[in-house]
Amino acid sequence: MNIPFSPPFIDQSVVDQVLDTLNNKWITTGPKVKALEQEVKVITGTDQVICVNSWTSGAILMLKWFGVKAGDEVIVPAYTYSATALAVLHCGATPVMVDVLEDFNIDPEKVKAAITTRTKAIIAVDIAGWPCDYAALKEVINDHHVQKKFRSTSDKQQLLNRILLISDAAHSIGSTYLNKPAAQNCDVTIFSFHAVKNITTAEGGAICLNLPKQFDHEAEYAYLKMYTLNGQNKDALSKSRGAGWRYDILFQGLKINMPDICAAIGLAQLRKYDNDLLPQRKEIAKKYFEGFQDQDWFISPPLVSTQRESCYHLFPLRVKGLSEEQRDQIIDDLSALGIATNVHFIPMPMLTLFKNMGYKMEDYPMAYQNYACEISLPIYPQLTQTEIDFIIPSVISCVQIQLNRNIKVIETNVVELKQMAVAS
Ligand SMILES: *Cc1c(COP(=O)(O)O)cnc(C)c1O
Repeated sequence: MNIPFSPPFIDQSVVDQVLDTLNNKWITTGPKVKALEQEVKVITGTDQVICVNSWTSGAILMLKWFGVKAGDEVIVPAYTYSATALAVLHCGATPVMVDVLEDFNIDPEKVKAAITTRTKAIIAVDIAGWPCDYAALKEVINDHHVQKKFRSTSDKQQLLNRILLISDAAHSIGSTYLNKPAAQNCDVTIFSFHAVKNITTAEGGAICLNLPKQFDHEAEYAYLKMYTLNGQNKDALSKSRGAGWRYDILFQGLKINMPDICAAIGLAQLRKYDNDLLPQRKEIAKKYFEGFQDQDWFISPPLVSTQRESCYHLFPLRVKGLSEEQRDQIIDDLSALGIATNVHFIPMPMLTLFKNMGYKMEDYPMAYQNYACEISLPIYPQLTQTEIDFIIPSVISCVQIQLNRNIKVIETNVVELKQMAVAS
């Protein structure tokens, strides 16, 4: 077997959209980006959508938009991909890390305890596509005592007059919260369209705005679009039209716009998302759940409840009582059988940059516990039934070897699985 972890979905409709862009001879920001923004806006039911060239640049943009700078603090979970905190560092501000809950997501009580007069924003991460407890987070930012601590030092901060709630929705396009798109819960929700995400543009991201009514969403959209283009008052497309050559630079922006050639990929995928790509991921998650549910070591990832539903971006399997070393061995053993897996995530305090800055892993025990026994299994629309039927017994056998159960029987199983792996 040779089962990759997360190949991009590229079918004829994706190829056709990209070819259409090439044939139209307009490859940078233009009609395809507009169409993608419009379609993301429709599926999320948010007020405005701005496409950018990555989640990371989108987060830097929104923190800068809010006036986050040196001396400010932004609360983030210790358990996430490091971009969540790096975006804060890029603005000169301090990421304040807090621990997570058993469901992988930021702990609202820890958030509340971490708030100071310097706190400007909270970035909550929907790990694996599972929405955070947004009701609790909103209660925190709207709490009277928390609001009294807020010191506004920019125009946008003054207008909002409280902590900005940002969703790192890099994993969670299509997730729902109280039967509505989860993207409607935060002031700002940012998707990643990186190659491994549910929807991809090779590299890219989308910012959804849900600001309170004192903000003029159309004006913010126009301003943010300029911000993605060096603060230039005209994009390349409008400049390309003969007499419109003259432009101005109104402020110091960034250069983080999404090209049409990239948007084309996402546009084709998004049109298949609700009816094909997302239900196919859900089907695989269900099969994994059913395949593992009788194992007493199985800790299911949160997938669906009465209030929330994941978009099944990852299947973060956890094994009860497993050490980090045993987990690493299982990953190697699965790899020897031709199954690529992954770990989401190495908590940030374990990474050199953050260790050197003084963050300590002991301060985040739940993040460590979630990490040490976690293995993310392949989950994507192209995964076949044959592959799923191979992955499930392989995982069970490799786990049982580490847990030292029925070692003889399992070793025979593994020999058979290895033969199957070679044969196919
Ligand atoms: C992928 C990812 C990001 C970064 O996305 P880019 O588009 O690569 O910048 C941020 N946060 C999380 C949780 C991610 O998984």
